[in-house]
Amino acid sequence: MEIITHDIIIIGAGLAGQMAALAASQSSDTAIVSKVHPIRSHSGAAQGGINASFGNVSDDDWEKHAFDTAKGSDYLADQDAVEILCKNITSRIVEIDHFGAIFDRMPDGRLAQRPFGGGSFPRTCYAGDATGHEMLNTLYEQLIKNNVRVYEEWLTTSLMVENNEYKGVLAINLKTGETAYFRSKAVIVATGGCGRVFERTTNSHQSTGDGISMAYRAGAQVCDMEFVQFHPTTLVGTNILISEAARGEGGFLMNSENKRFMESYAPSAKELAPRDIVVRSIQTEIEKGRGISGGEFVWLDLTSLGSEKLMEKLPQVYKLAKDFANVDAAQDCIPVQSAQHYTMGGIRTNNNCESSIKGLLACGECACVSVHGANRLGGNSLAETLVFGKIAGERALEYIRKKGTPGIQREAAEKEEERINHLFRSGDESVPELRKELQNIMWERAGIFRNESDSREALKAVKTLKKRYSNAGVKDSCRIFNTDLMQAIELGFLLDNAELIAQGALLRRESRGSHFRTDFPQRDDKNWLTHTIIAFKDGKPQVTFEPVRITLFKPEARKY
Ligand SMILES: Cc1cc2nc3c(=O)[nH]c(=O)nc-3n(C[C@H](O)[C@H](O)[C@H](O)COP(=O)(O)OP(=O)(O)OC[C@H]3O[C@@H](n4cnc5c(N)ncnc54)[C@H](O)[C@@H]3O)c2cc1C
Repeated sequence: MEIITHDIIIIGAGLAGQMAALAASQSSDTAIVSKVHPIRSHSGAAQGGINASFGNVSDDDWEKHAFDTAKGSDYLADQDAVEILCKNITSRIVEIDHFGAIFDRMPDGRLAQRPFGGGSFPRTCYAGDATGHEMLNTLYEQLIKNNVRVYEEWLTTSLMVENNEYKGVLAINLKTGETAYFRSKAVIVATGGCGRVFERTTNSHQSTGDGISMAYRAGAQVCDMEFVQFHPTTLVGTNILISEAARGEGGFLMNSENKRFMESYAPSAKELAPRDIVVRSIQTEIEKGRGISGGEFVWLDLTSLGSEKLMEKLPQVYKLAKDFANVDAAQDCIPVQSAQHYTMGGIRTNNNCESSIKGLLACGECACVSVHGANRLGGNSLAETLVFGKIAGERALEYIRKKGTPGIQREAAEKEEERINHLFRSGDESVPELRKELQNIMWERAGIFRNESDSREALKAVKTLKKRYSNAGVKDSCRIFNTDLMQAIELGFLLDNAELIAQGALLRRESRGSHFRTDFPQRDDKNWLTHTIIAFKDGKPQVTFEPVRITLFKPEARKY
C-alpha cells in the first residue's frame, strides 16, 4: 500500500474544505483529498446567497443577525458559536470579494443584499442566483495560486484513530482502484451533508454523509442528527432546488383554491417565514387535499416579478423551471414540493472546530458546532463554511506545531483494505435496491412529520438494511473508475447516517425547528433544551445529552 505523507489532510473540497486549506497552507504542507473535482463539490450548487450584517440596505448589525439565527434555530444553536459566525462573516466576505468574487452591487458600489427567510432585514449578499458557483471558483483560484496539492477523485473510506488520537486516512484512488494510506499530524473533515439518505432531496449524489459516518465509526461524538432541514420549493419529480431567493424577490405560494395560504400560517413573514414553518404549511395544505389537482405539490408564482427582473435576479431559477418542468416562469406558476435540503447535525465540535478525537477537526455541513440548531436560516450555511473553514485551518496549524508525524496503523489499514475487497464478492443483495429501500423508508417514516411508531419503524428498518448490506456485493470487478464500488461504500455511510437520524428522531420527545413530532407537538424547553450526542463506544451507540449554551438571548415563543 502506498504511503503518502503531509502535515495536514483536508477531506473535502467544498467551500469549507477549500477555506480550511487556504488557511492551513499558509505555513504547513497541506493537501486536500476529494472524491470529486473541487469545483464539482455541492457548494457550487448554492444559489440564493450568503448572510452578513453589512447593513447596506437597512439598519443591521451582528447582534440582529445573531438574534435571527438563534430564533430561527428554535433556540437550539449554541449562542457563543452564533456570535463567532455573525461577528466574522463580514470580514470573510470582504476577503473573498478581494480575491475576485463578483457579488451583485448597488448603484453606489456597495454590496447588494436581498431578504431571505427568517431574516428581519435584507441581509443576504449574492451573485445572481449562482452564489456558490461564484465563491467556489474564486477560492479554487486561490488554491492553485498557493500550490495546495489536491488529490481529486480519491474516495476516503476510513479514519485511523488510536487511543482517541487521529493517525491517518485510508483512501482509494478512483482512477486506478489502488488504496493508499495518508499519514498526517491532523485531519480536517469537510465532507458536506447526507441528503441522499432521503428519497427526495436537493442534494447532489455526492452528499452521502461520508465524513459523519467515518468520524462516528472512529469513535467521535455526533450531534443533533434528528434535525434535518426540508426545503419548501423544489421542482416536482426531480427535486431540483428553486432558491429561496425566488420568494425573497417577491414570489409567493398558492394552493388549489388560488389562495396565498402562507397568510394563514405566518401572517407577518408569510413566504419568508423560516423553512421549517413553510414546509409544514405546504405539507398541511397537501394533506388537507388542497394540493394542486389533489396532487403532492403547490404553485410558486413568480409571474408578478416580470421577465426583466426574473432575468436579472433569478436567471438560473428561470432556466431550471424551463428545462426541468417546461414552465415559462414569467407567464406561469412553477409546481413545487418540499424535499430534504440540509443536515443540521454532524460531527460535534467546539468553537475551534475540534471534535472529541484529538487531531480530528471538522467544519462546514458535516460538522455541528452548532450555529443552526434545530433549523438553519437560508444564507447561513455559506457563511458557516467561510467562517469555520478558516478557523479549522488555523486551529489545525496550532495543533500540529507540537506534533511529530504519526506511525502507520498497518493492522487497521489492512483490515480496512480487506473490508473493501470483501465488497467485490458476489453477494445476494443489490446496492441500488438497498439504497432505494433506505431512501423510501426515511422519507416515509423520518420525514417532515414524525411520531413514536414511525421513528421506531424507521430505526428497525435501517438496522435490518444494515444486516442485509453485509451481504451486498459489487458486480463490476474492474478496478478502474469503479462507480459500483464507490456507491457500495457510500451506501455503508448512508446507513450510518440514517441510523443516527432515526435514533435521534425517536429519542427527542418534543417538536423543535425541523423536528416535528405529531405526538409531542410542543417545544419543551424544560426537558429538551439539549443537544443529542451519540458516540460509538464498545461496539454500540451510546447516547448522552449536552445543555445548549445560551449566552445572548433567552428562549421565547417563535412567532413570524
Ligand atoms: C441546491 C443547494 C442550494 C443551496 N443554496 C444555498 C444558499 O443559497 N445559501 C446557503 O447559505 N447555503 C446553501 N446551500 C447549502 C450550502 O451550499 C452547503 O451547506 C455548503 O455549501 C456545504 O459546503 P461544504 O464545504 O461543507 O460541503 P460540500 O460543498 O458538500 O463539499 C463536500 C466535499 O467533500 C468531498 N467528499 C465527501 N465525501 C468524501 C469522501 N468519502 N472522500 C473524499 N472526499 C469526499 C466532496 O468531494 C466535496 O468536495 C445549498 C445547498 C444545496 C444542495
